[in-house]
Amino acid sequence: MPEDDDFRFETRSVHAGQDPDEETGALMTPIHANSTYEQDAPGEHRGYEYSRTGNPTRTDLEANLASLENGEYGRCFSSGMGSINTVLNLLDAGDHVVSGEDIYGGTRRIFDRVYTQYDVEFTYVDTTDLDAIEDAFREGTELLWLETPTNPLMSIVDVEGAADVAHDHDALCAVDNTFATPYLQRPLDLGADIVSHSLTKYLGGHSDVVGGALITNDEELDERFGFYQNSVGATPGPHECFLVLRGTKTLPVRMDRHCENARELAQWLDDHEDVDRVYYPGLDSHPGHDIAAGQMDDFGGMLSFELEASLEEAAECVSSTEVFTLAESLGGVESLIEQPATMTHASIPAEEREAAGLSDGLIRASVGIEHVDDLKTDLQQAMDASIE
Ligand SMILES: *Cc1c(COP(=O)(O)O)cnc(C)c1O
Repeated sequence: MPEDDDFRFETRSVHAGQDPDEETGALMTPIHANSTYEQDAPGEHRGYEYSRTGNPTRTDLEANLASLENGEYGRCFSSGMGSINTVLNLLDAGDHVVSGEDIYGGTRRIFDRVYTQYDVEFTYVDTTDLDAIEDAFREGTELLWLETPTNPLMSIVDVEGAADVAHDHDALCAVDNTFATPYLQRPLDLGADIVSHSLTKYLGGHSDVVGGALITNDEELDERFGFYQNSVGATPGPHECFLVLRGTKTLPVRMDRHCENARELAQWLDDHEDVDRVYYPGLDSHPGHDIAAGQMDDFGGMLSFELEASLEEAAECVSSTEVFTLAESLGGVESLIEQPATMTHASIPAEEREAAGLSDGLIRASVGIEHVDDLKTDLQQAMDASIE
């Protein structure tokens, strides 16, 4: 494909990083199932020597993802956690990290239970409040970690404002862009230094692959990420890369439907008598709506809502759906539903959970691309079956 920058997002989704095979004309990037590569002379290879270090299927995916995030460099990992671990590999003992408090549970776990062992310290703040971010910075703060929209309350962080705070303190700003995807939000354009992805979610898009990626415009950072790919070894295999490459081709059309369905469901739930509150940044009533409207192209496929119901009734509700599948994870074409209090956020003590606004009746949905009327009908029958 000619110069990437000439093309719009939808075109780059399909083509960026990929050219038909010169020898055979094969359109799709092959699954290069190789561990090693022939060398022309000792130490003289044709760009590939060993597949942990580099693999042609992975190269195409890395170029595709970099293009979609408007970044220069992409690196893929065997999971989203593998990519997050690689960002943390940049730190030294004694460094300090400021992070959003409302972040993916696995991110919190690697921060608190792995990296504190190496004397890295973490401070969690409400990152919707730029003053709170500023106040948390101190001597030795090297990294600001953000997620937006957050999980499960869909809070919105002003990425541009937060990145400015980090840069005023000579720290890096990393954004986990898994929920929004580059189709809706491009953190590098908003000033972030690093974008992290769980490819497992919308970018793969079909609940059939686990992967991660880091994208940056900084050559030195990219080289360090490459060094950690090779040294730590959390790299994806070619089959995984192939599946994600296939996924990103349809990202724009899938996301349009995810957003359309989520918007309609959010409005329907907002008017529903059994629902206390809906968390969806596309609703005018959402506290982050204006910032989201400014930094996102649409509001995504994730929403949460509070049933006017007990823990047991809400548990019964998510167990009674027929189209929505009761499962953790998100971002696949099929709709998923879960109860944070007993599932994704169960490890947080009940009191802390309440304080963070995660009520017993809270339900989180990853809205899929099915017909929205079937999704409404399904939620209605599940509520009828569960709420007294
Ligand atoms: C799933 C997820 C991760 C972790 O990714 P894996 O691919 O499961 O390792 C990180 N951040 C967010 C926001 C996620 O949803």
